[in-house]
Parts: sequence; C-alpha cells; structure tokens
Amino acid sequence: MFTIGCHLSASDGFLSMAQTTVAIGGNTFQYFSRNPRGSKARALDRDDIDRFNAFAEENGIYKILCHAPYTMNACSANPGLRDLAKEMMAEDLARLSYIPGAMYNFHPGSHTGQGTETGIDEIADVLNSVLSEDIKTPVLLETMAGKGSEIGGTFEELARIIEKTDLSHKLGVCLDTCHINDGGYDIVNDLDGVLEEFDRVIGLAKLYAVHLNDSMNPLGAHKDRHQKIGDGTLGTDTVKNIINHKKLRDLPFFLETPNELDGYAKEISLLKSLRYED
Ligand code: FE
Ligand code: FE
Ligand code: ZN
Repeated sequence: MFTIGCHLSASDGFLSMAQTTVAIGGNTFQYFSRNPRGSKARALDRDDIDRFNAFAEENGIYKILCHAPYTMNACSANPGLRDLAKEMMAEDLARLSYIPGAMYNFHPGSHTGQGTETGIDEIADVLNSVLSEDIKTPVLLETMAGKGSEIGGTFEELARIIEKTDLSHKLGVCLDTCHINDGGYDIVNDLDGVLEEFDRVIGLAKLYAVHLNDSMNPLGAHKDRHQKIGDGTLGTDTVKNIINHKKLRDLPFFLETPNELDGYAKEISLLKSLRYED
C-alpha cells in the first residue's frame, strides 16, 4: 500500500483537508497544529473531527501527520520559551487524542548559545515533562539540515534525545529527504549505506514517516530549501529509489515541496507512476 500525501493548510478544518487529499489523489496529509509562525491554536471543532474520522475511514485516509509550529523551540536558552514548548506540545497531543492513527512531528529545536549537549538535555526535559503512558500519538523527531544551531542534523543527536527520554517508546523519527541531503547524508549515491547508518545509530524500527522533498542545495550544504520532486539535487531516480526501497516503502510519504494544490496533484501522480507494485 503506497501511503502518499502532502502538506495542506488547516484553515478549513479536518474534513476539508481529507476531501482535498482525495481530490488530489492522496491517502494521507500533513498540517500545522497551529499557525506555523505563531503559537495560538484554532478552537477544537469536535463535529468536524467526527465527520473527518468517518470520511477518513470510508476513503482509506490514514497515518495523518500533525506538524508542530516552527516557533516551538524546546531548547531555547529562555526557560519561558521552553515552558511554552511544553504547553504547546501537551495541548497539541491532547487534541490528537481524538484522531486515531495520527502522528505528531516536531523540529527538535535550535539552541541559542548554550551548545548542542545542553540543547539535547533541554529537548529531552520537554519530552519527559509532556509524555505520559496514556498518550497514544507517536511523537516524531524530524531529521534536520543542521542549519545554524539546529539540533537533529545528525542521527547521533536524535539518538541521544531518544536515549535521554524516559518514555522513549513513545518517540519515533520522521526522515526529511531534503534535510538529510543538506545534512550530509548521501542518499543520491548510497541510499542503502545511509539507511544502514540510520539503523545502526537510531534503529529502523523508530522510522515512522518520510518527508519527501527534493533539495535546492548540494549534499552537506546545511541550508534547508525544499525543491519540487525531480528539479533538485536528489532528482527523480533518487526519489524513485526512496519510495520503492524495501526499508521505506511501507512508511507514509509527505510532500513538502514548493507547490500549490495542482502541483501536488501532479507530483502525487508522478510518484504513483514511479512506484513498483506491492
Ligand atoms: Fe518540518
Ligand atoms: Fe520536513
Ligand atoms: Zn525543511
């Protein structure tokens, strides 16, 4: 089963995102839990969620991914901002409890001068304060490009966050193909080797989702600029290898490419044509 979708605007609600997904040929989607650059969440509309859950079940939409806002920084040197990260994450996860099968993804954060090791401790502290046994939604750490003081640009950094989190069985990883290219992992020439390294450092059992993006920048650029599928450093052949790889093909793939809906529909149809049959 090929699970494919794209990032959608959440402004019209869950049922609308599911209907859009069907219209563009997808069977999953990603959305921001709240304004990506702000912090306030929309009011929870239980009727919309009930209608969404019924529609999703009927139409085979599943494994949707909720993305935390970019402004959430679990390793700011400012303790008030770390507390805000705890509040936002706890509130987002409480809302996701109404959507069976959903997952939650966040950027580990950027330290603001305290260094990577302290940053990792602070991220684990946020997770330790938010996670509890009754939270059923997997919480995914996104692989980052290693831009500036970003944490999560190497598999080792993500592994250390996971190790320091008490309820680490609640955590997973979302692999962003643009970010890991920019982080220096050569998935163009050695996808097998990169996945072996992921397995050795983090464990492939922790890999829950893929952000499928081409990159505007060369290997190891530490930039993070997404490109349309086939138009960047990765190219169509690499993307084809990724969506068909035996260690990846059963994961949900989310496009975050610079597109409007018609562009996403075209990319989804291209990806379906590149996908080998199950
Ligand atoms: Fe992201
Ligand atoms: Fe991403
Ligand atoms: Zn990115």
